[in-house]
Amino acid sequence: MRGNNSMKFSLVTEKPTNHKGFGGNVPELSVVVPIYNEVESLPQLLEALASSLSNCQFSYEIICVDDGSTDGSAQFLQQQTLIRSDLRVVILRRNYGQSAAMAAGFNYARGRFIVTMDGDLQNDPADIPMLVSKLEEGYDLVSGWRKNRQDAKLTRLLPSKIANWLIGLVTGVKLHDYGCSLKAYRAELAADMNLYGELHRFLPALAFIEGARITEIPVRHHPRRYGQSKYGLGRTFRVLMDLFTIYFMKRFLTRPMHVFGFFGMVSMILGTALGVYLTFVKLGLGEKIGHRPLLILAVLLLLTGVQLFSFGLMAELLMRTYHESQRRPIYRVREVFEPKVKSEG
Ligand code: UDP
Ligand code: MG
Repeated sequence: MRGNNSMKFSLVTEKPTNHKGFGGNVPELSVVVPIYNEVESLPQLLEALASSLSNCQFSYEIICVDDGSTDGSAQFLQQQTLIRSDLRVVILRRNYGQSAAMAAGFNYARGRFIVTMDGDLQNDPADIPMLVSKLEEGYDLVSGWRKNRQDAKLTRLLPSKIANWLIGLVTGVKLHDYGCSLKAYRAELAADMNLYGELHRFLPALAFIEGARITEIPVRHHPRRYGQSKYGLGRTFRVLMDLFTIYFMKRFLTRPMHVFGFFGMVSMILGTALGVYLTFVKLGLGEKIGHRPLLILAVLLLLTGVQLFSFGLMAELLMRTYHESQRRPIYRVREVFEPKVKSEG
């Protein structure tokens, strides 16, 4: 039983670094590219990556994660592994979305630095060395900032401006451009961040929750040459929803009772006060209270209070399960220094 359980968890958290077929020397830099129906871009993408990275001081690998493409991207990538030594390809069974594809890439990445970028040639591989050298200065995450973003103004740039402002406000991480996929991470940080839904847009915020040192630098951006964007205006709404999640995670992940309990308590106190007042009216003054809206309010407040309170308790239990089942401590260590001299005696 126990064995079974730990298997399940290991599916989520294990780093399959010694996965079959991925032998060879361990590179220093892994470039993770999620690919969903980008077959026309792929030849140029691989070329551009190789030419920018082969001049760079690091040994590198390109990890293309095919996210259930139906246009032959997977087949093309697979063929390329026959002739390229710098390419590893992970093919997902179906389309899971960009976050999942990136999470898969993080899991298979072996480098101590990880760079993510889009597979549609909108990001420029020539910027990668600059991002990585910033990491070397001591940052944990370097985010690209598309200063001259080449996307539709009204449907893309405006919502994105608002979203960036909102995300900055809510998360406390001030970046100009959260949506830029071109980012560089230290591998330890990438391993600490669990991606769900479409949370890849909030990676800097998640990184901030993990205590990362974050910075941004301007990067180039090109219009999409082939294929079409996988997202439309609908994502604005999803970003908003995700923002709530992130806010909650940032503030209350390890102490949910503080938020639910607080509102539950306020609600119960108000309900009780109203109840006491109504009891006084009924018993002390001898008036009827059955027809009073206040009575309904008192009952509603009391019930809501009890519900919120018990929900807070449940959330506390869930939080403990979350941390303990994954052996996930509630803190992150940056470095540990042990004594370098032997103690005497
Ligand atoms: N992508 C993916 N799975 C999806 C949607 C997108 O792997 O379900 C990839 C896509 O192939 C591209 C990157 O994520 O490499 C960004 O997508 P897109 O260029 O459509 O987003 P935009 O640049 O328009 O924000
Ligand atoms: Mg794009």
